[in-house]
Amino acid sequence: MAEVSVPTDEAGLPVASDGLVVCVLGSSSKGNSTLMSYHGSTILIDAGLPKRYIIDTMRRIGIPPSGLQAIFVTHEHTDHIQSVGPLGATFSVPIYISDDSFFACRERLGDYHSKHTLEPGEQIEVGPFTVDPFHIPHDALSNMGFRIEAGERSVGVATDIGWLENTIVDKLKGCEVLVLESNYDPGMLKTGPYPRQLKQRIMSNRGHISNLESAKALELMITERTRHVLLAHLSEINNEPLIAAETVHSYLKDKGVEGPLIHLTYPMTPSVRIHIR
Ligand SMILES: [Zn+2]
Ligand SMILES: [Zn+2]
Repeated sequence: MAEVSVPTDEAGLPVASDGLVVCVLGSSSKGNSTLMSYHGSTILIDAGLPKRYIIDTMRRIGIPPSGLQAIFVTHEHTDHIQSVGPLGATFSVPIYISDDSFFACRERLGDYHSKHTLEPGEQIEVGPFTVDPFHIPHDALSNMGFRIEAGERSVGVATDIGWLENTIVDKLKGCEVLVLESNYDPGMLKTGPYPRQLKQRIMSNRGHISNLESAKALELMITERTRHVLLAHLSEINNEPLIAAETVHSYLKDKGVEGPLIHLTYPMTPSVRIHIR
């Protein structure tokens, strides 16, 4: 039998150097980071997890951190920016962030390599990626989602969604891979330990979306092109992974939407590594 040589990194771990790789490195109210890699070029959407964890997890999933080209920031909340500055500085890569978010978190970014302003509606190209940022209502000075295309591939990322404006659905419709917030179960939130004001903020149109709202959005976003859905930003207090998955599964099944695989994401554990060649 012919020997198949698998590319490896300096530590001998297998490297995914072809096609598209998408992995949510970690996601919860405590920290978020989504990786997208295309033929060895890699970007991160947010770096709200510890720097060491992000670097180690990239290696574990076969994506050399040396391939990192840019970090895109959705908004200024700490669970999205914790390691943006240090990671950008370590790998000498630029940060793309809106002026309002930069203004709100400048001190918390720490040292960073370079910063570029990116506003909703300003499409840009970075390496092989065409990045299309769009506005998402949330209790931040600015919050963006992204539709990212590379070659024939397309990935949509949207979390921290106050309410599902039509533009969010329009932008993410038909992406091959969708990373969408599924933050809370309304019953768990209402009976849970959060103070009343915080509960109201989460449910408001500047907070987050529930599992059912996520399912309803997915019904509109999924087309025959959509292959994978990753449910993201699950609350550790007001949600359960199985409840989120079951709510989305059964809603989509009822509506006859059965194409894509639905995956969960985890606070400090990477999601499934999606690899489309
Ligand atoms: Zn968040
Ligand atoms: Zn937020």
